[in-house]
Formats: sequence, C-alpha cells, structure tokens
Amino acid sequence: MENHICPKCNSADIKKGLMGATVGQVYLYPENNLRKKPSSISAEYCKDCGYILSFYVDTP
Ligand SMILES: [Zn+2]
Repeated sequence: MENHICPKCNSADIKKGLMGATVGQVYLYPENNLRKKPSSISAEYCKDCGYILSFYVDTP
C-alpha cells in the first residue's frame, strides 16, 4: 500500500471515492472512441480538508 500524505494539511487520512454527479455517475469516454464502454472515475481525497490528490479512470 502506498502511504499518501495530504500536501495541504499533512493528514494521512486519505480516502478513495468515486466521482459522482447529482444524477448518476460521471464517466470518462476515450476521445477517439466514444462508443467504447466508458470507465468510471475514482478519486483519492483528504478526509480532513477535502483536498483531492488524484483522479484516475478505473478501466483505462
Ligand atoms: Zn488535507
């Protein structure tokens, strides 16, 4: 496991979540193939101050 530290508040309490919207979930489509099955987007964020450390697609 990587040991993430928040660069804003130095908290080690980093959580992983999925990007969501008010209706359903936000997905990322590959630019050159919009018919391809989209991927959900995960994020890692600091539980203490809310700073988002990283975004990544789950199935690139
Ligand atoms: Zn923080």
